[in-house]
Amino acid sequence: MIVVEDLHKHFGGFHAVDGASLTIETGSITALIGPNGAGKTTLFNVIAGVLPPTSGRVVMDGEDITGLPPHVLFSKGLLRTFQIAHEFHSMTCRENLMMVPPGQTGETLWNTWFGRKRIADEERALRAKADEVLEFLTVEHLADHPAGQISGGQKKLLELGRTMMVDAKIVFLDEVGAGVNRTLLNTIGDAIIRLNRERGYTFCVIEHDMDFIGRLCDPVIVMAEGHVLAKGTIDEIKANEAVIEAYLGT
Ligand code: ADP
Repeated sequence: MIVVEDLHKHFGGFHAVDGASLTIETGSITALIGPNGAGKTTLFNVIAGVLPPTSGRVVMDGEDITGLPPHVLFSKGLLRTFQIAHEFHSMTCRENLMMVPPGQTGETLWNTWFGRKRIADEERALRAKADEVLEFLTVEHLADHPAGQISGGQKKLLELGRTMMVDAKIVFLDEVGAGVNRTLLNTIGDAIIRLNRERGYTFCVIEHDMDFIGRLCDPVIVMAEGHVLAKGTIDEIKANEAVIEAYLGT
């Protein structure tokens, strides 16, 4: 689905991504791992259009998408999750989900005045969809909670839920497990597996928790010093000398 060819991202003289090439197969849950500073987040940001690359190409389903802005990639079904922005903390979880789909009728002033019925219908449909997403994620009890008051793990679930409000094809998830308790991490893992199997989502996940990766991800791509060091199953990666060295060297 995604082919990254010889990607570079330099910050001044510093090469955060330094000739990374990789593929993400349709239907996979691909893990991206590597020591701190390996360039994983920067690579994510370049693929998702948040940062322009210095050079190289990103191709999605045969189409060159290099440097396209996030909203264009969003319309193509490529999504990168982000922490719920501070200004949305006072909104409820349901409202946070309802805000996701672009092009809602109520967004233009004309429609606010003249399209009341349409707005009401749209809002009802969005609300139903948001509730369905919360139920899918087994957090329907959080619908009316302000997003700023839920736990870190629940916020991660809500981030995942935001991708379900639109027709995502591939979702880039950054550090799902960071600071999340084991029970909630399993819930997140279950949701990812179900989205993959039942809705055909492809995932690329930056993660450090090896148990989580072992349960969910195949293949695993290892980055170090801005490029791809190895790709394989978790067992192959664990036995790879170059990978062990890269981790021990940090
Ligand atoms: P990882 O996600 O693998 O830990 P990052 O992509 O976050 O790695 O960072 C790779 C390197 O690039 C790090 O050394 C980081 O300090 C540097 N870096 C990331 N973003 C910037 C930036 N905006 N300006 C300068 N250096 C950056």
